[in-house]
Amino acid sequence: MKAKKRKNKPGKIFIISGPSGSGKTTLLTRLIQDKKIAKLLVKSRSVTTRPKRFGERQGKDYFFVSKEEFRRLLKAKKILEWTRYLGYYYGTPKGPVEKLLKAGRHLGLCLDLKGARILKKIYPQNTVTIFVLPPSLDVLKARIEGRCRETNKQEISQRLRLAKKEMSAARQFDYNVLNGDLQVALKDLKKIFLKENSA
Ligand code: 5GP
Repeated sequence: MKAKKRKNKPGKIFIISGPSGSGKTTLLTRLIQDKKIAKLLVKSRSVTTRPKRFGERQGKDYFFVSKEEFRRLLKAKKILEWTRYLGYYYGTPKGPVEKLLKAGRHLGLCLDLKGARILKKIYPQNTVTIFVLPPSLDVLKARIEGRCRETNKQEISQRLRLAKKEMSAARQFDYNVLNGDLQVALKDLKKIFLKENSA
């Protein structure tokens, strides 16, 4: 569904960040499932060299590309910001972001800390950063293990180690959302979105 244009107001970038397993992608997906919000917010799809996980779809969850294609896009300046996360490349396609913002529409992105910092630097006036916190490290571990059934043990422990490091950055974000109960977290996220939409 297309987002509605906001009259005479620039669009905002809503960055949802947080450790792997915090539930940030689920929260953004669920936020956009709200009919009222779907008219205002568009989800950005990143380009990645990470292999597709079970259930993920090309162009829906990510644009899955080869390393060569990723390098070609970078060289052609078609990537706004990018990161290397556990050996894989992830990048935000530039074209859709610029087009939507110009049209006064909001954009939702799930990014790592580096991506959140860079976009806030590029668009300081209209970037809203939200950090999703898991209720505990034990819950986070269980979520990562459950989700990455086909992911090897080494990657699971790497994701956990990185998650612990990432948690200390929560204070640098505009908002923190605790995701212990998905419905409660979703309600908090909706409140933030609607407040920022009317600001
Ligand atoms: P995952 O492999 O779990 O889908 O993503 C790994 C990490 O990369 C997550 O923290 C996710 O938010 C982040 N990520 C996904 N796409 C992008 C992107 O385009 N740019 C940046 N900087 N991080 C991204």
